[in-house]
Parts: sequence; C-alpha cells; structure tokens
Amino acid sequence: MGCCDTPGLKPIESALAEMLDAVSPCTQVLSVTLDDAIGCTLAEPIHSPMSVPPFNNSAMDGYAFRQQDCAEGAALPLVGKAFAGAPFEGPLPRGACVRIMTGAPIPQGADTVEMQENTHVEQTDQGQCITFLKATREGQNVRLAGEDISQGQRLFDSGHILRGRDIPLLASLGIAQLNVFAPLKVAIFSTGDELQHLGTPLGPGQIYDSNRYCLRAILSRLNVEVIDFGVIADDPAQLTQTFLQADQQADVVITSGGVSVGEADYTKEILEQIGEIGFWKLAIKPGKPFAFGKLANSVFFGLPGNPVSALVTLNQLAIPVMLKMAGACALKPTRLTASVCHPLRKTPGRTDFQRGIYYVNSAGEIEVTSTGSQGSGVFSAMSKANCFIILEQDRGNVAADEKVTIELFADYLN
Ligand code: AMP
Ligand code: MG
Repeated sequence: MGCCDTPGLKPIESALAEMLDAVSPCTQVLSVTLDDAIGCTLAEPIHSPMSVPPFNNSAMDGYAFRQQDCAEGAALPLVGKAFAGAPFEGPLPRGACVRIMTGAPIPQGADTVEMQENTHVEQTDQGQCITFLKATREGQNVRLAGEDISQGQRLFDSGHILRGRDIPLLASLGIAQLNVFAPLKVAIFSTGDELQHLGTPLGPGQIYDSNRYCLRAILSRLNVEVIDFGVIADDPAQLTQTFLQADQQADVVITSGGVSVGEADYTKEILEQIGEIGFWKLAIKPGKPFAFGKLANSVFFGLPGNPVSALVTLNQLAIPVMLKMAGACALKPTRLTASVCHPLRKTPGRTDFQRGIYYVNSAGEIEVTSTGSQGSGVFSAMSKANCFIILEQDRGNVAADEKVTIELFADYLN
C-alpha cells in the first residue's frame, strides 16, 4: 500500500487487473458481409489475398514510353491508347509511346509516364507524334504493383475492431465476407424507487432515469446486443426475479444504483445469494461504490447510481473487461500531458477523474481547464467536457500551471 492509500479502498489498477483475470474471451464466431462488418471484432487475422495495386499503372493522364527512348525534346510516334479497364494490347514497340489514362495498366515494355501538360501533340503524315517538352525520369508517374500492399501481408490481427476507414481497404482486396466474434449480450437495468420514465411527469421526490440512457447510448457504439429490463423498484422480490432473468439471457448484466450501503440498497444481499460478487469501495472519484462478480451464466457489473460515477466506472472498468470478453484488443485511450490553467482541489487517497476541457493555446501547447463543479451528479459538466483530468491517487491540490495527465474521450463517448 502506498503512503496515501486509504485502507479499504481498492486502487483502480488492481480492480481492473482482477476483473480482466476473471473473464475469458468469446469463442463464438459469425460470418458477416463487409456491409455489416463495421464495429465488429475480427475473429481471425486478415492477410491480403492480392497485391495492391495489382498491376503497374499510371498515376497521370499522359503518355507512357521507355525512358531510354526519351531524351528531352524527343518526339515519339503515338501507337495506341491505354484506358483504365482497357489496356494497350501487346508490347510497346521501341521508340514509340502510348496515350495513357490514370489507372490504366502500363504497357509491357514501358516504364515511365509523362503528364500531358508537359507534351505537345503534332499531326504528321504517319499519324500523331508526341514531343516531350521537359526532361523525364525513369519510373515517374508509375504506381508499381504491390506498392501499397503486397500479397500475403498481414493487415489486421484477430481482435481488431473494424472502423469505417478499414472498410474500403478490405473492399479493395475483394474481401466480401469476414469471420467476427458474436456480439456480447448485455442486460441492463436501473434500480431505484425514485426513478421515473421519460415522457411521464415527475412526482414528488422523483427524478428521471438517465443511467439507462447513458448505457444504451454508449453500448450502441460498441457492437453489443443490449437487453433492456427497464427500471426496477427497490424491492427485493422484483430485483431477484430480474437478476435471474437477465442472467439467463445475457453474457453480461449491468445495473446502476443500489450498490452502496443505504437502507434501500438491496443489490448486495440479493447477489450474495445468487452469485459470487465482490462489493468494492474503489479508490476513485467519482465512482467509489462498485460491484463486480459472476452470476450463474454471466458477469455482473454494479455501477454506482450517481450518473457521472456510473459513466466513469463504465468507461474505466466495465468497458475494458467487456472488450476482453468480446475477443477485442484493448483500446488504449489517448493520454497527454497538459498545463492546468487554474488550481484544482484534490484530496490524496483516490484517483480523480475530473471533467476537463483541453485546447491548444497560441504557443501550440496543450492546456486544460476544469468544467467547474465536479459533483458526481453534475452531468452538465460531463457534457461540456472533452477529456478527463486524471489526478493520481497520491496527489494533493494542484496549483495553476502544474502539469497534469488528461485522457481524451474514447470515440464511443463522443
Ligand atoms: P444509489 O446508488 O442507488 O444510492 O443512488 C445514488 C444517487 O444516484 C441517488 O441520488 C440516486 O437518485 C441517483 N440515481 C440512481 N440511479 C439513477 C439513474 N438511473 N438515473 C439517474 N440518477 C440515478
Ligand atoms: Mg438507489
């Protein structure tokens, strides 16, 4: 334990390591078409079945010839045309040139292309003759076969999550079908007597259930199948029933609320009966109460009820574990060093994930400001922020201009 560790609080790093150790990756594989592959996790590495480009071709509209035949000011007779999709047939005769369009195969025997702007066309009795106005260099304006990708080259590892920009690459290789891991089935529900559905007026003491919308919004970006059990009251019988159903239908069960030590926090006593669950007090802020464990068929994450705490623990703890379960490689969030513009309050003992706004100043340096109120229920600050300011567990108050670590929001939070 470090000098500032608070007894009984589990550091975030050990919580994450323990959870990652406790789960295994998915083994169920599906075949999907390229159209349906975005966001899916590859279940096997992809090697290129061909070279790209597949043949030497022209990068310009102009003329193809042998560099040996073309001194500056040379005039070469034009003997044919090469279009993309309609190559020049046969070898190029010595001392001649071919009209060529961008993407057309370089005729056999040619090695160089000059752009048409640097040529002059002359009509002679024997046909057209092309004068080359500038010196040319062997190989100029020729895209070589395999220059981008060579046949057999490893392009993606198993576990790679396919992004929009990967799709045209796979299409260029003629890959129409891919083996991917089956999406995780994730059951979610909110717990709390005070929670009201959207579209219904609030009664006394009620608030709207926002955590389920947070979960649905973020999980929808992660290629998981969400099974939404809605809002469950603080009632042991209803909660037990819902946990049992969720466990039967899903690989992962995520709840929010009820994991603390209040009188209406029943999650603990129920789960002690139906699973192996650890209720942890984490050394992070926000997000202290957090539960993790196993039910009969599924893995369970109990997020705190406070909306910012729920999002921070989902992002820092539950998502990395779910990615491992989904067979995906870990997504390493981008962490940078920034100067903080004003003092930040911090008590040693927990790792803070404060909400911040970073920007690049006129000197090209990264600065960060706090979004203001850092209360765990203040969701407007989360919405205004574009990064977390991570203040290490042992750190105390931060003075203006001190360096801090910031973590840019992952794509799925934006
Ligand atoms: P709990 O962990 O159940 O004690 O809840 C902690 C705080 O979070 C309380 O103020 C709850 O009203 C609030 N809360 C719990 N669940 C939600 C939810 N789904 N949406 C918004 N706020 C919630
Ligand atoms: Mg509650």
